[in-house]
Amino acid sequence: MNDIKTKIYELTELINRYRKEYYEQDNPSVSDTEYDSLLHHLEALEQEYPEYAFPSSPTKAVGYTPNTAFEKVVFTEPMLSLGDIFSAEEVKEFVLRIYAMGYHPSFVCELKIDGIASSATYQKGFFSLGSTRGNGSVGENITDNMKTIDELPKVLHEDVDMEVRGEVYMARSTLSFLNEQRRNQGLEEFKNCRNAAGGSLRQLDSQITKERNLQVFNYTLVHPEKYGVKTQVEALEFLKQHGFQINPHYRYCENVDDILSYLEEWKERRKTLDYDTDGVVIKVNEFELYEKIGYTVKAPKWGIAYKFPALEVETKLLDIVYTVGRTGNITPNAVLEPVLISGSVVQRATLNNEDFCLERDVRIGDYVVVRKAGEIIPEVVGVNLERRKAGLKPFQMIEECPVCHKPLERKENESLHFCVNPNCDGRKLATLIYFASRVGMDIEGLGEKLLEDLYELGYVKEIVDIYHLKTYRDELIRLEGLGEKSVDTLLENIEKSKENPLDKVITALGIRFVGAKVSKVLAKEFGSLDRLFNATLDELLSIRDIGISIAQSVLQYKEEHEDLLQQLKSLGINPTMEKEDTSRLIFSGKAIVLTGKLETMTREEASSLIEKLGGQATTSVSKKTWLVVAGSDAGSKKDKAIQLGIKVINEQEFLEMCR
Ligand code: NAD
Repeated sequence: MNDIKTKIYELTELINRYRKEYYEQDNPSVSDTEYDSLLHHLEALEQEYPEYAFPSSPTKAVGYTPNTAFEKVVFTEPMLSLGDIFSAEEVKEFVLRIYAMGYHPSFVCELKIDGIASSATYQKGFFSLGSTRGNGSVGENITDNMKTIDELPKVLHEDVDMEVRGEVYMARSTLSFLNEQRRNQGLEEFKNCRNAAGGSLRQLDSQITKERNLQVFNYTLVHPEKYGVKTQVEALEFLKQHGFQINPHYRYCENVDDILSYLEEWKERRKTLDYDTDGVVIKVNEFELYEKIGYTVKAPKWGIAYKFPALEVETKLLDIVYTVGRTGNITPNAVLEPVLISGSVVQRATLNNEDFCLERDVRIGDYVVVRKAGEIIPEVVGVNLERRKAGLKPFQMIEECPVCHKPLERKENESLHFCVNPNCDGRKLATLIYFASRVGMDIEGLGEKLLEDLYELGYVKEIVDIYHLKTYRDELIRLEGLGEKSVDTLLENIEKSKENPLDKVITALGIRFVGAKVSKVLAKEFGSLDRLFNATLDELLSIRDIGISIAQSVLQYKEEHEDLLQQLKSLGINPTMEKEDTSRLIFSGKAIVLTGKLETMTREEASSLIEKLGGQATTSVSKKTWLVVAGSDAGSKKDKAIQLGIKVINEQEFLEMCR
């Protein structure tokens, strides 16, 4: 428990330090993603152990308490922060939570401008007070500096009292211009638009602010009821009519699907703007619901900030551990300080092999950049040498297998180290895990953890033992976490897997270089395990897509696993595959892109249907694309297809075509 308390204390201190650097000094030392990860980690710990949360916890604070030379401004209406979310799932939850309260509002999506929150007060139509957000209750008086922002009206058309809030920002083009000037003058360059805007807005000499050419987008009208304004869309239009700059890209949304398609569209499109955006703010449109939906201590519940996924994030490398693959390949893996990457927490990433670690000079204790792209396992891409502490030991590859402790081998022109002991428990377990996994026999319920236990208990040591597990039914029922029902389902799933198609069985064997794609080629060509494993080197090599490494690997597998192949046959695992009737291959050789949400099937199912009919399911739209199937919230891919004159059909039309 004390460890938890210490961790909470350390995180609180660290995050508060980062907040000071960011809010007060406009000079952060870590990226927003790294900051967000730490904050989420702290939030999770505080939720589990509320008794250890500190009064100074950053999870309850907005911004910072001003401690600067500026006069203080006390707000009548607090300037709140926004809760943040990172995935489509969380967007749905946000909307469903509001529906669950019995409200069915419309929504507005606005780009989240990465700048400095500010407030502008007008008395009888004259700009009278400008302020930063500070800690949400008390801000700094920066009236003179805000006067230098050309886009902010100083006099309104009407003699009204009004408070308007928004984001002061620096355009990207301004930043490059200023940085070029600063380079020439030998001055330190600004790190990014947000820091430059913050630093410029809080200058004691407003002449300097003026030279920085700041801009503003306004999005909040305080007390809209005073002006008869009932919705956020009306408020934005009202602000526009009164001479304020509003961001033109906001969109009225009826429901979750509309919101998601806005997010999808702007994920890429935002890169074309001349200002930085770090997400999308989703707000309930109808103001009458705001009080009813309510607030937390630091943010409204009627609005939320969706953050665009970061694919690369920096985090600390805590340790390097080694795993043994099914072919005996040894992989160094990074154990990381947990970090959020595109919505999920990452704690492990591959370091591939010795050369990879040496080339990047990866050391335990370093801050490393981690990347997650699509479904690929997270990978360490590099080290931030600027953050390296003295005394970290250079990487050294292990010389013994971490499981069986036999010496490792590295072949001359390969970068991998191998454990060549065929009886290595690490290798055998990895073979079993791969065999039962989704890409292999796809035996639901027989995951990594259970297989580890079964291996340890001696119930499953070889692939065939999986099919004899039924003899241990009673013992399995007594295992922790397994009941009668789940054991029976598991045993059923194991039996069912015997009917898997040939290509899945070939993949599951785990032959080196023979993954799902190659297995499909081999299955189509040979039609049975017997024919495949009786093929000669020449026969294998005569197949398009099969090279010497694959061919040799298949032959070697046969030599080493003759018994297993026989046993599988006697268990009834002996699928055959008919040569395909090519007249059915309506998509033969065609590239088809799936985009948006499909209603009647998953993406995987649609892709395999395309492949079954001879086509190829690809991810990006180009001139080579033959057809685009657009689901309900299709975004930029659909637009691109239309631009390129590629045929676009909906899910229903696609199904009819396949039928
Ligand atoms: P926030 O930036 O996540 O969200 C609230 C703010 O969004 C509002 O105050 C407003 O200024 C802004 N915003 C922009 N466009 C808007 C729009 N259209 N409608 C409404 N609001 C809009 O919350 P926060 O409390 O201001 O700051 C947290 C952010 O600051 C996080 O992104 C975090 O990563 C970053 N941060 C980074 C560090 C660091 O060290 N790198 C430290 C502290 C905070």
